[in-house]
This record gives sequence, C-alpha cells and structure tokens, in this order.
Amino acid sequence: MTREGALELVPIDLSPDAHGNTGVPYATTFDSGEPGPHLMISALVHGNEVCGAHALVYLLESDVRPQRGKLTLAFMNVAAYHAFDTGTPNASRCLDEDFNRLWSIEVLEGNGESRELARARTGARSRPRRAAAYRRRCRARPRGTDA
Ligand SMILES: [Zn+2]
Repeated sequence: MTREGALELVPIDLSPDAHGNTGVPYATTFDSGEPGPHLMISALVHGNEVCGAHALVYLLESDVRPQRGKLTLAFMNVAAYHAFDTGTPNASRCLDEDFNRLWSIEVLEGNGESRELARARTGARSRPRRAAAYRRRCRARPRGTDA
C-alpha cells in the first residue's frame, strides 16, 4: 500500500546511455538506413519527471527501432534529474530555470547563462537556421488552416 501522492518510481540509472551516439550527451539516434521521417522522443525536460526516464530506458533496451527514417531518444535536463530527491521531488524540477522556456532563437543565442541553457545550447547548436525556417513557415500559414 502506498500513501496518496507517494512516488512509486525511483530514479533509474542513465549512465549506460550517457555517451549516446549523436555528439550530444544522453542522446541516441537509431537510423534505419531507409528514407523517412526523423522522430525524436525526449524525456526529463524537467528533472523530476522520473516516469519519462523509465519510458525512454525501456525504448532503448527493448529494441524499438525505426523501419524507415530515424529515431532519436534524448534525456534532456539530466543535471536536474541527478539532483532528484524522493523526499523533495519538486525541488529538482529545474536547477536554474524552466528548461521548457528556452526554445527560442532569442533565448538560445542571447546572453543568458544557466545550467539549463547550457544543456539546451548543446543540443541546439546546429538547429537555429532550421528553427528559423520553421518559424517563417508557421507565420506564412494563415490561421485556421491546416494546410
Ligand atoms: Zn515537464
């Protein structure tokens, strides 16, 4: 029996996936070798989201692999996760700032400094041009259309 609101999952060891294979720590890509979409599944945008870490480890260890295109599995705010304490689970949601509020060109390329921003910049350093192109496409699409 567990107390209401008690944590039933405990942190899982991520060290086997720390190196990854993408040049970005804790990010692993599986390439089918066939043309197709590139899907990324992320976990641990917030350091206290332990269930996502378990889900990603399950995918890494269960041979879920793309038949076409690529699949990237990435643990995001690992530093906050490493600070996770079951006694104060919300304390490790972020170290310095919300990782999920860093995803604009202005923030990524700005003068801000934080542990979350350093991690976001690690994964995003090759993406600004593509992100800017995506934003232009979004602005060009009239609202209310799904084209
Ligand atoms: Zn979250």
